[in-house]
Amino acid sequence: MARIVMKFGGTSVADLDRIRSVAARVKREVDAGNEVAVVVSAMAGTTNQLVAWCTALSALHDAREYDTVVATGEQVTSGLLAIALQTIGVNARSWQGWQVPLATDGAHGKARIESIAGGDLIRRMQGGQVPVLAGFQGIGPDGRVTTFGRGGSDTSAVALAAALRAERCDIYTDVDGVYTTDPRIVPRARKLAKIAYEEMLELASVGAKVLQTRSVELAMKEGVRVQVLSSFDDGATLGGDLPGTLVVDEEEIVEKEIVSGIAYSRDEAKLTVRGVPDRPGIAAAIFGPLSAASVNVDMIVQNVSADATTDLTFTLNRADLPRAEKTLAEHQAEIGYATLLADKEVAKISVVGVGMRSHSGVASTMFRALASKGINIQVISTSEIKVSVLISAEYTELAVRALHTAYGLDA
Ligand code: ADP
Ligand code: ASP
Ligand code: MG
Repeated sequence: MARIVMKFGGTSVADLDRIRSVAARVKREVDAGNEVAVVVSAMAGTTNQLVAWCTALSALHDAREYDTVVATGEQVTSGLLAIALQTIGVNARSWQGWQVPLATDGAHGKARIESIAGGDLIRRMQGGQVPVLAGFQGIGPDGRVTTFGRGGSDTSAVALAAALRAERCDIYTDVDGVYTTDPRIVPRARKLAKIAYEEMLELASVGAKVLQTRSVELAMKEGVRVQVLSSFDDGATLGGDLPGTLVVDEEEIVEKEIVSGIAYSRDEAKLTVRGVPDRPGIAAAIFGPLSAASVNVDMIVQNVSADATTDLTFTLNRADLPRAEKTLAEHQAEIGYATLLADKEVAKISVVGVGMRSHSGVASTMFRALASKGINIQVISTSEIKVSVLISAEYTELAVRALHTAYGLDA
């Protein structure tokens, strides 16, 4: 007997048939004698629609009202799954974030979980009840509903597993594990039996949306055993070999690859601040107000100045672009720049692997592979186990495929 958390993503609860199938899968774990807590996402497409409605009314909408709207998708599926479970004789009830409560900070739209009161849930689970938690949402210090950023149900699941001291956190999705790259773009991508927390963290943070970055961060910190599985395989996997991907400590991986994965992100935008005076304090004058406006800046390049001015280019989440442009426009006089140039047609491509720590030549292989396809690199950034480049968005798939082959990852 084990205590487990099972999380089902959007495509896994996309319609009533999928929800019935999820209920049957949960029942199998319950019948095997396990204590089970479930976390659900909204039905596939629902959150996109809710976000689009907010944005259509105002690009600079109130983040608290955004949360009120987007959190509703998960409320629906938590209730529906509880009904589906009850229908097949499983004692279940839904929980909204505020009911647990799952307390967060006040950063509406990208809130961080601060604490989960798990005592009541544990007692009920011991009494045979299955809690079905609406993922993606909590309650802020202002007493209002908060959400955790796109893909945030993964973080709900890992946080719940930590709070309940669960043995495993099973993330059920529409692929049967973590691959060397997005299998939808590269059909020859290989499934990884295991991936190190650090590699998964890096891959997630540069766009591999199979797990939300914060969920991996939290799993690493709390030592939660995360397994990525498909909810579409219909073999009963109970007690058998683990068919998905386990996220584990680096020491548990025997054969370390130099490059273990390639990720892309199309959620990027590039902003160039033209004609900035080249003097101390300018970076602070630009990035201070942006950070105060909760705009996360990623890659940054500053050119050498020809005269007394220079250009500064940086990337940010595309959704933050209107806020960034507004903020910089408000501070134009202090910063003293000439013009702002925004580009939304960019993508970030990254190669990740812990083996990079001890091997050289990873970046040059990347540059050569992109050059051979005639793909121009706009910005480069590196970390200990990652190299990222910014390219024109139209070459995203071509670049990912070329790199997958260049690093010998093709199956
Ligand atoms: P869910 O709704 O279940 O949370 P997501 O769409 O958030 O599902 O994440 C699963 C998707 O992540 C897959 O359908 C796949 O296209 C994408 N993905 C991107 N990179 C990878 C990767 N390296 N391995 C597996 N899936 C990946
Ligand atoms: N429904 C939310 C989203 O689409 C959260 C999640 O699915 O993890 O981003
Ligand atoms: Mg997801």
